[in-house]
Amino acid sequence: MKPPPPLQLVTDPASVLHQRARPVRIFDGALRRLVDEMYIRCEEWSGVGLAAPQVGLNLQLAVIVYEDRKFAMCNPELLSGEGEVDATEGCLSLPGMAGIVRRFEQVTVRYRNPQGRGMVKNYQGWLARIVQHESDHLQGMLCRERLAPGAVFEIVPEDEEEVS
Ligand code: ZN
Repeated sequence: MKPPPPLQLVTDPASVLHQRARPVRIFDGALRRLVDEMYIRCEEWSGVGLAAPQVGLNLQLAVIVYEDRKFAMCNPELLSGEGEVDATEGCLSLPGMAGIVRRFEQVTVRYRNPQGRGMVKNYQGWLARIVQHESDHLQGMLCRERLAPGAVFEIVPEDEEEVS
């Protein structure tokens, strides 16, 4: 059997980015191999998060690789959010563009890890922003649709930080 081809980045306007992804139901070795490959691609593409729809897969799975944190969320659900913060956000699937997005400052999220274990976690600051950005991807929502009032999504210089 030939190995599967490497994951490819999908960019807007691919339809997979605009539909609600299917929940993960089977937590097996194949899922964990996919997670491992997504970690590799996320780092290779200099993202801090990567959602399965961004590699063309209709699945509620996202990985986050930020500072010393590296974890995967399956079927994430935002249980609560507090505070509001506006910051510039971009996306690997919207290359070269960014805009000011309003997000909760703190969130509580429920998800399953790649072993299928239920988790409830609290995130703050930039990590909370990444979690919200990736959870949005799994609902078919891009950060361009979450702009702060009056903000515009526009071309940015190549060297600016991107969320994912
Ligand atoms: Zn993104």
